[in-house]
Amino acid sequence: MKDLDRTWVVQKYGGTSLGKLLDKITGDIIPSSLEHDRVAVVCSARSGTSKSTGTTKLLLEAISHATDPSLGSDERLDHVVSMIRDQHLEAVISAVGDGSRVSGGNPAQELELSIIEEVERLRVFLHAVHTIGELSPRSQDRVLALGEKLACLITASSLEQRGVGAKVVLLDDIVEQAYQSDPNGPEAAYEELGTPFFDRISIKIGERIEECGDKVPIVTGFFGAMPHSLLHSVGRGYSDLCAAMCAVGIGAREVQIWKEVDGIFTTDPSKVPSARLLATVTCEEAAELTYFGSEVIHPLTMEHVQRAKIPLRLKNVKNPFGAGTIIFPSNYLASRVSAEPSKMSSAAQSGISTPTSSFLLANGYHGDMQQRRRPTAVTAKDFIFIINVLCHRNSKSHGFLAEVFRRLDQHKVVVDLITTTEKSISLAVSSATANAREIKKATSEIEKLGTVSVTRGMSIISVVGHKMRNTVGIAGEIFSTLAGAKINIYLISQGASEINISFVVKESDTLLAMNVVHTKVLQIPAHSEQENSFSKGPWLY
Ligand code: ASP
Ligand code: MG
Repeated sequence: MKDLDRTWVVQKYGGTSLGKLLDKITGDIIPSSLEHDRVAVVCSARSGTSKSTGTTKLLLEAISHATDPSLGSDERLDHVVSMIRDQHLEAVISAVGDGSRVSGGNPAQELELSIIEEVERLRVFLHAVHTIGELSPRSQDRVLALGEKLACLITASSLEQRGVGAKVVLLDDIVEQAYQSDPNGPEAAYEELGTPFFDRISIKIGERIEECGDKVPIVTGFFGAMPHSLLHSVGRGYSDLCAAMCAVGIGAREVQIWKEVDGIFTTDPSKVPSARLLATVTCEEAAELTYFGSEVIHPLTMEHVQRAKIPLRLKNVKNPFGAGTIIFPSNYLASRVSAEPSKMSSAAQSGISTPTSSFLLANGYHGDMQQRRRPTAVTAKDFIFIINVLCHRNSKSHGFLAEVFRRLDQHKVVVDLITTTEKSISLAVSSATANAREIKKATSEIEKLGTVSVTRGMSIISVVGHKMRNTVGIAGEIFSTLAGAKINIYLISQGASEINISFVVKESDTLLAMNVVHTKVLQIPAHSEQENSFSKGPWLY
Protein backbone atom coordinates (compact mmCIF):
# COMPACT_ATOMS: atom_id res chain seq x y z
CA MET A 1 0.00 0.00 0.00
CA LYS A 2 1.26 3.49 -0.81
CA ASP A 3 2.31 5.44 2.26
CA LEU A 4 -0.19 8.22 1.73
CA ASP A 5 -3.10 5.77 1.33
CA ARG A 6 -2.77 4.38 4.83
CA THR A 7 -5.15 5.19 7.67
CA TRP A 8 -4.40 7.98 10.13
CA VAL A 9 -3.93 7.71 13.86
CA VAL A 10 -3.72 10.87 15.98
CA GLN A 11 -1.42 10.62 19.00
CA LYS A 12 -1.64 13.32 21.65
CA TYR A 13 1.12 13.46 24.23
CA GLY A 14 0.70 15.09 27.62
CA GLY A 15 3.16 17.63 28.98
CA THR A 16 4.70 15.42 31.67
CA SER A 17 5.27 12.58 29.19
CA LEU A 18 7.02 14.94 26.77
CA GLY A 19 9.03 16.36 29.64
CA LYS A 20 10.18 13.07 31.12
CA LEU A 21 9.88 10.41 28.43
CA LEU A 22 10.59 12.09 25.09
CA ASP A 23 13.20 9.47 24.22
CA LYS A 24 10.68 6.69 24.43
CA ILE A 25 8.13 8.67 22.43
CA THR A 26 10.32 9.66 19.49
CA GLY A 27 12.65 6.68 19.59
CA ASP A 28 10.16 3.93 20.11
CA ILE A 29 6.43 4.67 20.12
CA ILE A 30 6.11 6.93 17.06
CA PRO A 31 8.47 4.90 14.80
CA SER A 32 6.70 1.63 15.60
CA SER A 33 3.27 3.19 15.08
CA LEU A 34 4.46 4.43 11.68
CA GLU A 35 4.92 0.84 10.59
CA HIS A 36 1.13 0.44 10.45
CA ASP A 37 -0.45 3.87 10.18
CA ARG A 38 0.17 7.46 9.25
CA VAL A 39 0.64 9.30 12.51
CA ALA A 40 -0.21 12.90 13.38
CA VAL A 41 1.29 13.96 16.70
CA VAL A 42 -0.31 16.61 18.93
CA CYS A 43 1.87 18.12 21.67
CA SER A 44 0.77 19.74 24.86
CA ALA A 45 3.16 22.21 26.53
CA ARG A 46 6.02 20.46 28.33
CA SER A 47 5.89 19.92 32.07
CA GLY A 48 8.50 18.87 34.56
CA THR A 49 7.44 16.46 37.23
CA SER A 50 3.90 17.78 37.50
CA LYS A 51 1.46 20.01 35.68
CA SER A 52 1.88 22.62 38.45
CA THR A 53 5.44 23.35 37.31
CA GLY A 54 4.50 23.04 33.65
CA THR A 55 5.13 25.61 30.94
CA THR A 56 1.47 26.65 30.66
CA LYS A 57 1.42 27.37 34.39
CA LEU A 58 4.61 29.45 34.07
CA LEU A 59 3.20 31.35 31.11
CA LEU A 60 0.09 32.20 33.13
CA GLU A 61 2.36 33.34 35.95
CA ALA A 62 4.32 35.54 33.53
CA ILE A 63 1.04 37.07 32.33
CA SER A 64 -0.01 37.88 35.88
CA HIS A 65 3.34 39.58 36.64
CA ALA A 66 3.13 41.51 33.38
CA THR A 67 -0.25 42.93 34.32
CA ASP A 68 0.69 43.59 37.95
CA PRO A 69 1.56 47.28 38.56
CA SER A 70 3.21 46.67 41.94
CA LEU A 71 6.89 47.23 42.60
CA GLY A 72 9.25 44.45 41.51
CA SER A 73 6.74 42.73 39.24
CA ASP A 74 8.94 43.30 36.18
CA GLU A 75 11.82 41.43 37.85
CA ARG A 76 9.48 38.60 38.75
CA LEU A 77 8.34 38.57 35.14
CA ASP A 78 11.94 38.28 33.94
CA HIS A 79 12.62 35.48 36.34
CA VAL A 80 9.67 33.39 35.12
CA VAL A 81 10.51 33.97 31.44
CA SER A 82 14.10 32.88 32.08
CA MET A 83 12.84 29.76 33.81
CA ILE A 84 10.80 28.86 30.72
CA ARG A 85 13.86 29.43 28.51
CA ASP A 86 16.21 27.39 30.70
CA GLN A 87 13.82 24.45 31.12
CA HIS A 88 13.54 24.14 27.36
CA LEU A 89 17.27 24.60 26.72
CA GLU A 90 17.95 21.83 29.21
CA ALA A 91 15.80 19.50 27.12
CA VAL A 92 17.78 20.11 23.92
CA ILE A 93 20.77 17.85 24.48
CA SER A 94 18.70 14.91 25.62
CA ALA A 95 16.33 15.43 22.68
CA VAL A 96 18.82 15.78 19.82
CA GLY A 97 22.28 15.08 21.28
CA ASP A 98 25.07 17.66 21.10
CA GLY A 99 25.18 17.64 17.33
CA SER A 100 28.78 16.42 17.18
CA ARG A 101 27.87 13.38 15.10
CA VAL A 102 26.22 15.39 12.37
CA SER A 103 28.00 16.73 9.37
CA GLY A 104 26.81 20.10 8.07
CA GLY A 105 24.47 22.08 10.35
CA ASN A 106 24.25 21.47 14.05
CA PRO A 107 20.69 20.53 15.04
CA ALA A 108 21.28 21.14 18.75
CA GLN A 109 22.57 24.63 18.08
CA GLU A 110 19.77 25.42 15.65
CA LEU A 111 17.16 24.24 18.12
CA GLU A 112 18.75 26.26 20.92
CA LEU A 113 18.71 29.36 18.79
CA SER A 114 15.05 28.97 17.88
CA ILE A 115 14.11 28.45 21.53
CA ILE A 116 16.05 31.55 22.62
CA GLU A 117 14.56 33.61 19.79
CA GLU A 118 10.99 32.58 20.67
CA VAL A 119 11.38 33.14 24.40
CA GLU A 120 13.14 36.49 24.04
CA ARG A 121 10.41 37.71 21.71
CA LEU A 122 7.92 36.84 24.43
CA ARG A 123 10.02 38.73 26.99
CA VAL A 124 9.97 41.90 24.89
CA PHE A 125 6.23 41.56 24.36
CA LEU A 126 5.48 41.04 28.05
CA HIS A 127 7.61 44.02 29.07
CA ALA A 128 5.57 46.13 26.65
CA VAL A 129 2.42 44.75 28.29
CA HIS A 130 3.87 45.72 31.67
CA THR A 131 4.35 49.29 30.50
CA ILE A 132 0.84 49.55 29.06
CA GLY A 133 -0.62 47.69 32.03
CA GLU A 134 -3.16 45.51 30.23
CA LEU A 135 -3.42 42.42 28.05
CA SER A 136 -6.40 41.58 25.85
CA PRO A 137 -7.79 38.01 25.97
CA ARG A 138 -6.56 37.57 22.42
CA SER A 139 -2.98 38.52 23.34
CA GLN A 140 -3.17 36.24 26.36
CA ASP A 141 -3.93 33.36 24.00
CA ARG A 142 -0.90 34.30 21.91
CA VAL A 143 1.30 34.07 25.01
CA LEU A 144 -0.04 30.60 25.90
CA ALA A 145 0.65 29.43 22.33
CA LEU A 146 4.38 29.48 23.05
CA GLY A 147 4.18 26.46 25.38
CA GLU A 148 2.90 24.12 22.68
CA LYS A 149 5.14 25.67 20.02
CA LEU A 150 8.32 24.99 22.01
CA ALA A 151 7.16 21.45 22.78
CA CYS A 152 6.61 20.83 19.05
CA LEU A 153 9.99 22.27 18.03
CA ILE A 154 11.77 19.92 20.43
CA THR A 155 9.69 16.87 19.52
CA ALA A 156 10.13 17.45 15.77
CA SER A 157 13.92 17.91 16.09
CA SER A 158 14.15 14.76 18.15
CA LEU A 159 12.31 12.78 15.47
CA GLU A 160 14.40 14.28 12.65
CA GLN A 161 17.53 13.37 14.55
CA ARG A 162 16.38 9.76 14.50
CA GLY A 163 15.82 9.86 10.77
CA VAL A 164 12.04 10.33 10.87
CA GLY A 165 10.95 13.30 8.73
CA ALA A 166 8.80 15.65 10.79
CA LYS A 167 7.14 19.02 10.25
CA VAL A 168 5.82 21.41 12.89
CA VAL A 169 2.25 22.54 12.24
CA LEU A 170 1.46 25.81 14.03
CA LEU A 171 -2.24 26.41 14.53
CA ASP A 172 -1.90 29.95 15.94
CA ASP A 173 -4.11 31.46 13.23
CA ILE A 174 -6.39 28.54 12.49
CA VAL A 175 -9.53 30.15 13.95
CA GLU A 176 -9.06 33.28 11.81
CA GLN A 177 -8.32 31.15 8.75
CA ALA A 178 -11.38 29.00 9.26
CA TYR A 179 -13.65 32.03 9.58
CA GLN A 180 -11.96 34.46 7.18
CA SER A 181 -14.73 34.28 4.60
CA ASP A 182 -17.36 34.80 7.29
CA PRO A 183 -18.28 38.51 7.33
CA ASN A 184 -19.24 38.34 11.02
CA GLY A 185 -16.03 36.60 12.04
CA PRO A 186 -15.60 33.75 14.51
CA GLU A 187 -17.32 35.60 17.38
CA ALA A 188 -20.78 35.45 15.83
CA ALA A 189 -20.34 31.83 14.72
CA TYR A 190 -19.21 30.85 18.18
CA GLU A 191 -22.26 32.36 19.85
CA GLU A 192 -24.68 30.82 17.39
CA LEU A 193 -23.27 27.40 16.73
CA GLY A 194 -21.90 25.94 19.92
CA THR A 195 -20.16 22.67 19.11
CA PRO A 196 -20.43 22.80 15.27
CA PHE A 197 -18.30 25.95 15.52
CA PHE A 198 -15.36 23.61 15.94
CA ASP A 199 -16.16 21.57 12.81
CA ARG A 200 -15.00 24.33 10.52
CA ILE A 201 -11.74 24.56 12.45
CA SER A 202 -11.34 20.78 12.20
CA ILE A 203 -11.58 20.92 8.42
CA LYS A 204 -8.89 23.61 8.23
CA ILE A 205 -6.64 21.66 10.59
CA GLY A 206 -7.13 18.61 8.38
CA GLU A 207 -5.95 20.59 5.34
CA ARG A 208 -2.86 21.81 7.20
CA ILE A 209 -1.99 18.27 8.27
CA GLU A 210 -2.36 16.89 4.75
CA GLU A 211 0.06 19.57 3.51
CA CYS A 212 2.86 17.82 5.39
CA GLY A 213 2.93 15.07 2.74
CA ASP A 214 5.02 12.14 3.93
CA LYS A 215 6.47 13.99 6.93
CA VAL A 216 5.03 13.36 10.37
CA PRO A 217 2.94 16.40 11.31
CA ILE A 218 3.80 17.65 14.81
CA VAL A 219 0.78 19.78 15.66
CA THR A 220 0.54 22.37 18.42
CA GLY A 221 -2.18 21.48 20.92
CA PHE A 222 -2.85 25.21 21.03
CA PHE A 223 -5.36 26.08 18.32
CA GLY A 224 -5.60 29.79 17.96
CA ALA A 225 -7.06 32.87 19.52
CA MET A 226 -10.60 31.92 20.49
CA PRO A 227 -13.54 34.26 20.97
CA HIS A 228 -13.45 35.35 24.66
CA SER A 229 -9.98 33.69 24.97
CA LEU A 230 -9.12 30.01 24.82
CA LEU A 231 -9.05 29.65 28.59
CA HIS A 232 -12.54 31.07 28.93
CA SER A 233 -14.21 29.23 26.05
CA VAL A 234 -12.33 25.90 26.33
CA GLY A 235 -10.17 25.98 29.46
CA ARG A 236 -7.00 24.16 30.50
CA GLY A 237 -6.41 20.83 28.83
CA TYR A 238 -7.34 22.30 25.43
CA SER A 239 -4.87 20.10 23.54
CA ASP A 240 -7.11 17.05 24.08
CA LEU A 241 -9.81 18.89 22.17
CA CYS A 242 -7.24 19.81 19.52
CA ALA A 243 -6.40 16.12 19.08
CA ALA A 244 -10.09 15.34 18.60
CA MET A 245 -10.37 18.11 15.98
CA CYS A 246 -7.29 16.79 14.14
CA ALA A 247 -8.86 13.33 14.07
CA VAL A 248 -12.14 14.71 12.72
CA GLY A 249 -10.29 16.83 10.13
CA ILE A 250 -8.28 13.94 8.67
CA GLY A 251 -10.84 11.18 9.30
CA ALA A 252 -8.51 9.24 11.61
CA ARG A 253 -9.40 5.68 12.55
CA GLU A 254 -8.43 6.36 16.19
CA VAL A 255 -7.28 9.12 18.55
CA GLN A 256 -4.78 8.10 21.19
CA ILE A 257 -4.25 10.13 24.34
CA TRP A 258 -0.86 9.12 25.75
CA LYS A 259 -0.29 9.73 29.46
CA GLU A 260 1.39 7.87 32.27
CA VAL A 261 -1.57 5.79 33.39
CA ASP A 262 -2.75 2.49 31.91
CA GLY A 263 -6.27 3.70 31.28
CA ILE A 264 -9.56 3.77 33.14
CA PHE A 265 -10.06 1.37 36.04
CA THR A 266 -13.19 -0.14 37.57
CA THR A 267 -12.38 2.01 40.61
CA ASP A 268 -9.45 3.88 42.14
CA PRO A 269 -6.67 1.25 42.39
CA SER A 270 -5.04 3.15 45.25
CA LYS A 271 -8.19 2.68 47.34
CA VAL A 272 -9.40 -0.70 46.12
CA PRO A 273 -6.50 -3.02 45.28
CA SER A 274 -8.65 -5.40 43.22
CA ALA A 275 -9.53 -2.64 40.73
CA ARG A 276 -9.24 -3.79 37.13
CA LEU A 277 -8.29 -1.98 33.98
CA LEU A 278 -11.30 -1.56 31.69
CA ALA A 279 -10.82 -2.58 28.07
CA THR A 280 -13.67 -0.40 26.85
CA VAL A 281 -16.03 2.27 28.08
CA THR A 282 -18.51 4.38 26.18
CA CYS A 283 -18.11 8.13 25.70
CA GLU A 284 -20.99 8.76 28.09
CA GLU A 285 -19.40 6.58 30.73
CA ALA A 286 -16.04 8.28 30.27
CA ALA A 287 -17.68 11.65 30.62
CA GLU A 288 -19.19 10.57 33.94
CA LEU A 289 -16.02 9.08 35.34
CA THR A 290 -13.10 10.89 36.85
CA TYR A 291 -9.86 9.33 35.81
CA PHE A 292 -8.10 7.96 38.80
CA GLY A 293 -4.60 9.13 39.47
CA SER A 294 -4.67 11.47 36.51
CA GLU A 295 -6.64 14.40 35.23
CA VAL A 296 -9.86 14.12 33.28
CA ILE A 297 -9.77 14.22 29.48
CA HIS A 298 -11.13 17.54 28.37
CA PRO A 299 -14.91 16.97 28.20
CA LEU A 300 -15.36 18.60 24.78
CA THR A 301 -13.00 15.96 23.36
CA MET A 302 -15.58 13.28 23.96
CA GLU A 303 -18.33 15.24 22.22
CA HIS A 304 -16.26 15.56 19.05
CA VAL A 305 -15.11 11.98 18.74
CA GLN A 306 -18.61 10.84 19.55
CA ARG A 307 -20.14 12.90 16.77
CA ALA A 308 -17.55 11.73 14.26
CA LYS A 309 -17.74 8.12 15.49
CA ILE A 310 -14.00 7.90 16.13
CA PRO A 311 -12.76 5.69 18.98
CA LEU A 312 -10.43 7.26 21.52
CA ARG A 313 -7.79 5.18 23.24
CA LEU A 314 -5.96 6.00 26.46
CA LYS A 315 -2.40 4.72 26.36
CA ASN A 316 0.51 4.62 28.80
CA VAL A 317 3.87 5.92 27.57
CA LYS A 318 5.54 3.75 30.22
CA ASN A 319 3.71 0.66 28.99
CA PRO A 320 3.17 1.05 25.22
CA PHE A 321 2.33 -2.62 24.69
CA GLY A 322 -0.61 -2.41 27.08
CA ALA A 323 -3.90 -2.20 25.21
CA GLY A 324 -5.05 0.81 27.26
CA THR A 325 -8.73 1.68 27.50
CA ILE A 326 -10.78 2.42 24.40
CA ILE A 327 -13.53 4.96 24.70
CA PHE A 328 -16.12 4.04 22.10
CA PRO A 329 -18.86 6.33 20.99
CA SER A 330 -21.97 4.35 21.90
CA ASN A 331 -23.36 4.96 18.39
CA TYR A 332 -20.18 3.26 17.13
CA LEU A 333 -20.90 0.22 19.24
CA ALA A 334 -24.32 -0.20 17.81
CA SER A 335 -23.58 0.55 14.18
CA ARG A 336 -19.98 -0.11 13.25
CA VAL A 337 -18.56 -2.94 15.25
CA SER A 338 -20.89 -5.52 13.85
CA ALA A 339 -21.20 -3.91 10.43
CA GLU A 340 -17.52 -3.25 9.72
CA PRO A 341 -15.29 -5.59 11.65
CA SER A 342 -12.52 -5.18 9.04
CA LYS A 343 -12.06 -1.52 10.04
CA MET A 344 -10.64 -2.63 13.33
CA SER A 345 -8.15 -5.14 12.04
CA SER A 346 -5.29 -2.71 11.46
CA ALA A 347 -5.16 -2.04 15.19
CA ALA A 348 -4.81 -5.73 15.81
CA GLN A 349 -1.89 -5.88 13.37
CA SER A 350 -0.06 -3.26 15.39
CA GLY A 351 -0.02 -5.62 18.34
CA ILE A 352 -2.78 -3.79 20.12
CA SER A 353 -5.68 -6.02 20.90
CA THR A 354 -9.01 -4.49 19.95
CA PRO A 355 -12.28 -5.62 21.47
CA THR A 356 -14.13 -7.52 18.87
CA SER A 357 -17.85 -7.49 18.46
CA SER A 358 -17.97 -10.76 20.38
CA PHE A 359 -16.29 -9.10 23.35
CA LEU A 360 -18.81 -6.31 23.25
CA LEU A 361 -21.69 -8.71 22.83
CA ALA A 362 -20.49 -10.87 25.71
CA ASN A 363 -20.26 -7.83 27.91
CA GLY A 364 -23.79 -6.80 27.19
CA TYR A 365 -23.03 -3.58 25.32
CA HIS A 366 -25.40 -4.49 22.53
CA GLY A 367 -27.18 -7.42 20.95
CA ASP A 368 -29.55 -9.86 22.59
CA MET A 369 -27.12 -11.45 25.00
CA GLN A 370 -27.17 -8.72 27.57
CA GLN A 371 -26.96 -10.97 30.60
CA ARG A 372 -23.85 -9.41 32.11
CA ARG A 373 -25.51 -6.16 32.99
CA ARG A 374 -23.22 -5.01 35.73
CA PRO A 375 -22.18 -1.40 36.27
CA THR A 376 -18.81 -0.50 34.75
CA ALA A 377 -17.11 1.48 37.49
CA VAL A 378 -17.51 3.12 40.87
CA THR A 379 -15.87 6.43 41.75
CA ALA A 380 -15.71 8.71 44.76
CA LYS A 381 -15.41 12.45 45.09
CA ASP A 382 -14.36 13.78 48.48
CA PHE A 383 -14.64 17.24 50.09
CA ILE A 384 -18.38 17.48 49.59
CA PHE A 385 -20.74 19.74 51.53
CA ILE A 386 -24.47 19.07 51.66
CA ILE A 387 -26.66 22.14 51.77
CA ASN A 388 -30.27 21.59 52.88
CA VAL A 389 -32.76 24.39 52.36
CA LEU A 390 -36.26 24.22 53.80
CA CYS A 391 -38.46 26.85 52.19
CA HIS A 392 -40.37 28.82 54.82
CA ARG A 393 -42.36 31.08 52.61
CA ASN A 394 -45.53 30.00 50.96
CA SER A 395 -43.95 30.47 47.54
CA LYS A 396 -44.23 28.19 44.52
CA SER A 397 -41.52 25.55 44.39
CA HIS A 398 -40.23 26.47 40.93
CA GLY A 399 -39.67 30.07 41.97
CA PHE A 400 -37.93 28.84 45.08
CA LEU A 401 -35.56 26.66 43.04
CA ALA A 402 -34.79 29.49 40.66
CA GLU A 403 -34.02 31.83 43.55
CA VAL A 404 -31.69 29.33 45.23
CA PHE A 405 -29.81 28.68 42.00
CA ARG A 406 -29.54 32.36 41.15
CA ARG A 407 -27.68 32.94 44.41
CA LEU A 408 -25.42 29.93 43.90
CA ASP A 409 -24.64 31.12 40.41
CA GLN A 410 -23.80 34.60 41.61
CA HIS A 411 -21.08 33.13 43.79
CA LYS A 412 -19.97 30.60 41.16
CA VAL A 413 -20.86 27.62 43.33
CA VAL A 414 -21.22 24.57 41.08
CA VAL A 415 -23.76 21.97 42.19
CA ASP A 416 -22.84 18.31 41.74
CA LEU A 417 -26.09 16.66 42.84
CA ILE A 418 -29.54 17.89 43.70
CA THR A 419 -32.74 16.40 45.07
CA THR A 420 -35.93 18.30 45.79
CA THR A 421 -39.34 18.02 47.30
CA GLU A 422 -42.08 20.65 47.04
CA LYS A 423 -40.68 22.68 49.92
CA SER A 424 -37.11 21.56 50.40
CA ILE A 425 -33.98 21.13 48.40
CA SER A 426 -30.73 19.25 49.10
CA LEU A 427 -27.60 20.11 47.21
CA ALA A 428 -24.20 18.43 47.16
CA VAL A 429 -21.43 20.87 46.30
CA SER A 430 -17.71 20.31 46.06
CA SER A 431 -15.68 22.48 48.37
CA ALA A 432 -12.69 21.82 46.09
CA THR A 433 -14.10 23.71 43.09
CA ALA A 434 -15.93 26.48 44.95
CA ASN A 435 -14.00 27.42 48.01
CA ALA A 436 -15.66 27.31 51.40
CA ARG A 437 -15.87 31.12 51.55
CA GLU A 438 -17.99 31.32 48.40
CA ILE A 439 -20.28 28.58 49.69
CA LYS A 440 -20.68 30.52 52.93
CA LYS A 441 -21.56 33.73 51.10
CA ALA A 442 -24.11 31.94 48.92
CA THR A 443 -25.74 30.12 51.85
CA SER A 444 -26.04 33.26 53.94
CA GLU A 445 -28.03 34.80 51.09
CA ILE A 446 -30.11 31.65 50.65
CA GLU A 447 -31.04 31.96 54.32
CA LYS A 448 -33.43 34.71 53.25
CA LEU A 449 -35.46 32.05 51.44
CA GLY A 450 -35.55 29.34 54.06
CA THR A 451 -33.83 27.47 56.83
CA VAL A 452 -30.39 26.38 55.73
CA SER A 453 -28.17 23.70 57.20
CA VAL A 454 -24.74 22.70 55.90
CA THR A 455 -23.11 19.32 56.56
CA ARG A 456 -19.41 18.99 55.85
CA GLY A 457 -17.10 16.01 55.43
CA MET A 458 -19.19 14.08 52.91
CA SER A 459 -18.37 12.15 49.71
CA ILE A 460 -20.26 11.49 46.52
CA ILE A 461 -20.06 7.90 45.32
CA SER A 462 -21.07 7.37 41.69
CA VAL A 463 -21.84 4.03 40.14
CA VAL A 464 -21.52 4.38 36.39
CA GLY A 465 -22.44 1.99 33.63
CA HIS A 466 -23.89 2.08 30.16
CA LYS A 467 -25.22 -1.42 30.75
CA MET A 468 -27.32 -0.38 33.74
CA ARG A 469 -29.78 1.21 31.35
CA ASN A 470 -33.19 -0.42 31.44
CA THR A 471 -31.97 -2.92 34.01
CA VAL A 472 -34.25 -3.50 36.93
CA GLY A 473 -32.70 -4.09 40.31
CA ILE A 474 -29.26 -2.43 40.15
CA ALA A 475 -30.29 0.42 42.45
CA GLY A 476 -31.83 -2.13 44.81
CA GLU A 477 -28.58 -4.11 44.85
CA ILE A 478 -26.49 -1.01 45.50
CA PHE A 479 -28.57 0.17 48.43
CA SER A 480 -29.05 -3.20 50.07
CA THR A 481 -25.28 -3.77 49.80
CA LEU A 482 -24.70 -0.44 51.56
CA ALA A 483 -27.30 -1.30 54.19
CA GLY A 484 -25.55 -4.63 54.76
CA ALA A 485 -22.36 -2.69 55.48
CA LYS A 486 -24.30 -0.34 57.79
CA ILE A 487 -23.54 2.70 55.68
CA ASN A 488 -25.97 5.59 55.98
CA ILE A 489 -27.00 7.41 52.80
CA TYR A 490 -27.68 11.15 52.86
CA LEU A 491 -28.80 11.90 49.31
CA ILE A 492 -29.61 9.81 46.24
CA SER A 493 -29.77 10.78 42.59
CA GLN A 494 -30.26 8.97 39.30
CA GLY A 495 -30.46 10.93 36.07
CA ALA A 496 -32.72 10.11 33.15
CA SER A 497 -29.78 8.71 31.20
CA GLU A 498 -29.72 5.88 33.77
CA ILE A 499 -25.98 5.44 33.40
CA ASN A 500 -25.10 7.03 36.73
CA ILE A 501 -26.52 6.35 40.18
CA SER A 502 -24.94 8.68 42.71
CA PHE A 503 -25.34 8.97 46.46
CA VAL A 504 -23.73 10.82 49.32
CA VAL A 505 -22.15 9.15 52.35
CA LYS A 506 -19.92 10.36 55.19
CA GLU A 507 -16.30 10.74 54.12
CA SER A 508 -15.33 8.19 56.77
CA ASP A 509 -17.53 5.58 55.01
CA THR A 510 -16.13 6.22 51.50
CA LEU A 511 -13.56 3.46 51.42
CA LEU A 512 -15.95 0.86 52.74
CA ALA A 513 -18.70 1.95 50.34
CA MET A 514 -16.39 1.74 47.32
CA ASN A 515 -15.13 -1.67 48.37
CA VAL A 516 -18.52 -3.24 48.97
CA VAL A 517 -20.02 -1.85 45.77
CA HIS A 518 -16.97 -2.99 43.80
CA THR A 519 -17.10 -6.51 45.20
CA LYS A 520 -20.85 -7.12 45.50
CA VAL A 521 -22.44 -5.00 42.78
CA LEU A 522 -19.73 -4.91 40.10
CA GLN A 523 -18.96 -8.47 41.26
CA ILE A 524 -15.22 -8.13 41.01
CA PRO A 525 -13.68 -10.44 43.60
CA ALA A 526 -11.79 -8.76 46.43
CA HIS A 527 -8.02 -8.94 46.27
CA SER A 528 -7.74 -11.72 48.85
CA GLU A 529 -10.32 -13.87 47.05
CA GLN A 530 -8.49 -13.35 43.75
CA GLU A 531 -5.29 -14.60 45.35
CA ASN A 532 -7.04 -17.55 46.93
CA SER A 533 -8.65 -18.58 43.71
CA PHE A 534 -5.25 -18.32 42.08
CA SER A 535 -3.62 -20.66 44.59
CA LYS A 536 -6.51 -23.13 44.21
CA GLY A 537 -6.18 -23.08 40.45
CA PRO A 538 -5.48 -26.16 38.28
CA TRP A 539 -1.78 -26.93 38.35
CA LEU A 540 0.43 -28.47 35.74
CA TYR A 541 2.71 -31.10 37.17
N1 ASP B 1 -0.82 22.94 28.05
C1 ASP B 1 -2.18 23.23 28.16
C2 ASP B 1 -2.66 23.17 29.60
O1 ASP B 1 -1.93 22.85 30.47
C3 ASP B 1 -3.01 22.39 27.28
C4 ASP B 1 -3.04 20.92 27.64
O2 ASP B 1 -2.26 20.43 28.42
O3 ASP B 1 -3.88 20.23 27.10
O4 ASP B 1 -3.79 23.46 29.86
MG1 MG C 1 -3.13 18.10 29.37
